[in-house]
Amino acid sequence: MNSIKIITFLLLNFGFLFSYSQPVNVPWPDIVDSSDLVDTRSKPIEYQVKQIFRFPETGISADNMFPGARLNDMFMINDSTIQVQILPENHPVNMSPWYAFRMWSETDQSIYLKLSYKHGRHRYYPKLSSDSEHWAPVDSSDYFSEPGDTSALFRIHLKHDTIRISAQENIASDECKRWVDKMARKQFISRHTIGYSTLEKPLYGLSISESDGKNLLVILGRQHPPELTGYKEMIAFVESISENTRLARKFRKKFETIVVPMMNPDGVDNGHWRHNAGGIDLNRDWRHFHQPETFAFRKYILEKIKKQNARVCFGIDFHSTQEDIFYYSEKNINPDKEIITLKWINSINKRFPDNSFNPEPTGITSQVSKNWFLNEIKAESITYEVGDNTPRDIINKRGKEAAKQLMKIMLKDI
Ligand SMILES: [Zn+2]
Repeated sequence: MNSIKIITFLLLNFGFLFSYSQPVNVPWPDIVDSSDLVDTRSKPIEYQVKQIFRFPETGISADNMFPGARLNDMFMINDSTIQVQILPENHPVNMSPWYAFRMWSETDQSIYLKLSYKHGRHRYYPKLSSDSEHWAPVDSSDYFSEPGDTSALFRIHLKHDTIRISAQENIASDECKRWVDKMARKQFISRHTIGYSTLEKPLYGLSISESDGKNLLVILGRQHPPELTGYKEMIAFVESISENTRLARKFRKKFETIVVPMMNPDGVDNGHWRHNAGGIDLNRDWRHFHQPETFAFRKYILEKIKKQNARVCFGIDFHSTQEDIFYYSEKNINPDKEIITLKWINSINKRFPDNSFNPEPTGITSQVSKNWFLNEIKAESITYEVGDNTPRDIINKRGKEAAKQLMKIMLKDI
């Protein structure tokens, strides 16, 4: 082969290696803290084998053959206990071991499950569902572990009908797509495919607007697959902006809201603990944009700003962690104005004194979305963290109220 043929061959066959590695020139302050420097070029991940596990001596079966499942192995360790082996997609990885699987039995019986993690510690209290819509935590009298234990032991009651056992409510990309489609039926909401994930799943975006498109509120969610409480609060938040109230209508006449509710559909559908299918924590890729998901998001927003001669007024990235926290930047992007976040958080906390957010100022160098909003597009933004165990009815009410309060503040201040 001559050299041109060799280059053509390499590009055709290994072009994907180059597709997102072009340097992105985002202005970024000097990084002092070495923990802020993360290499986000793709790394290999391991896929779980999709299969049915059968225990003929007990009549019990289990499987992981559905989106969002994570179950790597299962075996009996004694007559009454089954060990459930859970592995991450790759490591090192954040301590958020996700698990989700189904079980059923030929006869009614109780069995102990021992969740055992490689490269992780137990974090999520197990939840059960028989219809994958309604979830309830395992009864406390059936649960025998402490937070931070390396494994978790609990008892479940099996029947002929399938039961789902999951770290949090399992909401995969198909359900998010149904929500996106439902929202897009409103006449002031349109749906866009802003790009594709590593495994070529569409990344959906919603535009909610009755405005001239000059002022943008930008919302994203689910960079981290297990972070369901943040996802749920985002849904309530976005629905509040889309309601037929005087406040929401007034807001939509002045602001266009862009929502990308599921940034990491591959990680979500494959039951990852943290990463995308490129083996990378997407919320560390907002400086170099090596991953297609972050690359597509940035391109979409920058093109929109240019095309509509718009500016981003505020950015919100929904996540979950052990408690309710707003991470915001100490640096005020509009020094002549008060930081929106502080006003906003006070107005939310006044209404939810028992489930208030902790405001936590951070630096601006780590490679997270919040700092991209600040450093490249000069917009105030926050990481909106919802507690893993925040009551679900509070999440719903608070998400709606948080949107109302932000709409009021933005209408007054911007
Ligand atoms: Zn997160």
